[in-house]
Amino acid sequence: MTDFLHLAAPGVRQLKPYQPGKPIEELERELGISNIIKLASNENPLGPSPLALTAARAALEDVWLYPDGNGFVLKDRLAAKLGVAMEQLILGNGSSDVLEFAVRAFVTPQDEVLFSEHAFAVYPILTQAAGAKAVVVPAKDWGHDLAAMRAAVTERTRLIFIANPNNPTGTWLPAAELEAFIAGLPEHVMVLVDEAYFEYASDPAMGARDYPDAVAWVGRYPNLVVARTFSKCYGLAGLRVGYGVCHPQVADLLNRVRPPFNVNSLGLAAAAAALDDVEHLQQTLELNAAGMRQLVAGFASLDLRHISSIGNFVSVDTGRPAAPLYDALLKEGVIVRPVANYGMPNHLRVTVGLPEENDRFIAALGKVLGR
Ligand SMILES: *Cc1c(COP(=O)(O)O)cnc(C)c1O
Repeated sequence: MTDFLHLAAPGVRQLKPYQPGKPIEELERELGISNIIKLASNENPLGPSPLALTAARAALEDVWLYPDGNGFVLKDRLAAKLGVAMEQLILGNGSSDVLEFAVRAFVTPQDEVLFSEHAFAVYPILTQAAGAKAVVVPAKDWGHDLAAMRAAVTERTRLIFIANPNNPTGTWLPAAELEAFIAGLPEHVMVLVDEAYFEYASDPAMGARDYPDAVAWVGRYPNLVVARTFSKCYGLAGLRVGYGVCHPQVADLLNRVRPPFNVNSLGLAAAAAALDDVEHLQQTLELNAAGMRQLVAGFASLDLRHISSIGNFVSVDTGRPAAPLYDALLKEGVIVRPVANYGMPNHLRVTVGLPEENDRFIAALGKVLGR
């Protein structure tokens, strides 16, 4: 019998695929229950902007045509909004695509990729797939230890991933600290600041003083790539649109490894329209800040500690192995995210939902904990 394993690229042989949050339909099939809530993938509980939906519906008429492979309209809108040149933008099929381009364009099997313990699971997967060496720096208070990360930089370090805020911990780095770190890197090191939760994190109601806008630094640091997405705050996770902002020459290199037509026409249209929907964004932020307060109060009522988060999710310490609690919550029709694979076996990550969903999660959590 043919064994394809030995034919696979070395990095791919040991690779474990990314584990997404459990889809509602899957749990329906498995348990035969309905009325399920999913607070597992940091999706926007309000759904997409109505403006984005209208634009996507209109774009549906033209799906027999290839999309604009350069994404002119969306890039034009983003450039104006962010105050950068269109040549500084790269579009991705989700921002995960942009993270992958950074690895493909800059990292060889001889190189090291640096990131923190408890960092977003896509970083180790991309690193291993490239056959490169992952250097994982122990976290400090669940967040990035920048001094330790700086000390871990070697001749071989080619790329550093920093999620700000980080998923699943929700921890974040203030402007002065993060900028000093970037400024102090040697020239051969690229740094990707992953701002998937930028809109949530920069909401004053989330209380993060000095939360940085790394896009403002791109002109100063040519080795900096900032990644953002329409999947989270903009509620377009299913359409897969993200982008990177960087030096024009870096954008050109990322563009060389980008598959043609990687962003589909519905996504391009919806994302451009979503940028106009100030009202949807405002409602999303208000709902999130109130929901975070609700969850935090719920944890306190159950005598549970949590990691303070400025995203639309929070990780709670259940005080015991969380896997059985995750399973018991599924039976209650509540899908959250176990994070043992992030080195956090006692935590569960929950996405901020609608007020009634947050209540239902807290009640179910109390029940499965026997409180
Ligand atoms: C969700 C997320 C992303 C990107 O998701 P896409 O849907 O691919 O845009 C990137 N980084 C972090 C930390 C995330 O949580």
